[in-house]
Amino acid sequence: MPKVQTARGDKAPFKFSGTTQKLFDEDLEDFTGEIKIVGEVEDAGRCYVVRGRIECTKSFTCDRCLAQATENQIHEFDEELDKAEAIDEVLDVTELLRDILLAAQPMKNLCKADCKGLCPVCGANLNEGECGCKRFIVDPRLAALEDFKLD
Ligand SMILES: [Zn+2]
Ligand SMILES: [Zn+2]
Repeated sequence: MPKVQTARGDKAPFKFSGTTQKLFDEDLEDFTGEIKIVGEVEDAGRCYVVRGRIECTKSFTCDRCLAQATENQIHEFDEELDKAEAIDEVLDVTELLRDILLAAQPMKNLCKADCKGLCPVCGANLNEGECGCKRFIVDPRLAALEDFKLD
């Protein structure tokens, strides 16, 4: 539950590390191992500015080839928080950091950007080589294109 003493006109640095359970009070099972967060809170007059970076490791199943993959991620952030968020000059940044981490996740989890996926015919992982199956494309417009390529 990361909390930061707010700064007055100055910058207050912070540093947190631990599992998602420890940091966010929630088990985000994709994020294995320790998450490291360093940053600072600045009193910007109207609001507080919270900036820094989150370093974490994500373990997931590739959406295309179903292989297990891990990825080291670094997310820089720079967010404004309402002054009313601070209670007795202490800012709870738990939710802010958790939301930053989750919002930074891609829509698709891919082991690599150009993952070839699985063969729809035999199920072979096409990243490991061509299986030799004849894969036809169902969409007739694309099928016409495929015929053209084969000629
Ligand atoms: Zn993959
Ligand atoms: Zn195949």
